[in-house]
Amino acid sequence: MTIYWPNYYKDFACKAGACLHTCCAGWVIGIDEKSLERFGKDPEVSRTISDGCFVLKEDGRCPYLRDDNLCEMIIRHGEDYLCDICREHPRFYNDFEDHIEAGIGLVCEEACRLVLEADAPFSLVSDEGSKMELPDYVKAVFDTAKPLTERLAAISGGRRAGSKLRAEIFYEMEVMDPKWSRLLEKIINAPVAEQDADKVILDNEKEFANFAAYLLYRYKGAGRFAAEACCLLADLVSKGCGLADVARVFSCEVEYSDINIDEALETFG
Ligand code: SF4
Repeated sequence: MTIYWPNYYKDFACKAGACLHTCCAGWVIGIDEKSLERFGKDPEVSRTISDGCFVLKEDGRCPYLRDDNLCEMIIRHGEDYLCDICREHPRFYNDFEDHIEAGIGLVCEEACRLVLEADAPFSLVSDEGSKMELPDYVKAVFDTAKPLTERLAAISGGRRAGSKLRAEIFYEMEVMDPKWSRLLEKIINAPVAEQDADKVILDNEKEFANFAAYLLYRYKGAGRFAAEACCLLADLVSKGCGLADVARVFSCEVEYSDINIDEALETFG
């Protein structure tokens, strides 16, 4: 089955020890069955596993994550020894009948940088170098005949929640880090005017177009969700947050909770 990747994927490399928000801390690391079988033959590794997951240290770090943020397991055994989730993160795959559309998730700070800062137009390329035509819902974001705010309004069917209501919807969801709730409270307590959010979007057009395209591509044309997510990020930027920071945190809080992403897609469906 041919796998297509966004053109920026070729530049992706894990930052390893240089990563400021390592994915090897704070997450439950569920191990696939094949790897569990392999680890089961290794007494040293199997004593760090319980209920199919690595037993995290008290501070939430993976037992193999060293103080310098390098992975002890890779150093000792090589990358092929890792379980699927550790080897694949932050990649995602969407299956279609005759091909797979893959990408990298914004929850990873390096993926987030690559996605938001991409200058080249979004395109899809297979490992063998063949190109796939972009879905129309992704193309619509890059149609520069109209300002991005109008393009976002079009892909969301003209629907847009007020900033307070939108922040409240995300506030009610499962929370990974209480800091996210405090950010949303800033909007709930002092809502952001539409024109102020629009100005943020137009001042950072490339990043917001890339963010919207990422969501549309990953969630197969979920236009309202992509547009509301752009507005939420714009509201947070107008409250003084950094765009790349809130994009990563949004991904962590909303995309990487099965409950939250299902709820967000349903609410803004
Ligand atoms: S978040 Fe990304 S860059 Fe950081 S350790 Fe994980 S995969 Fe590597």
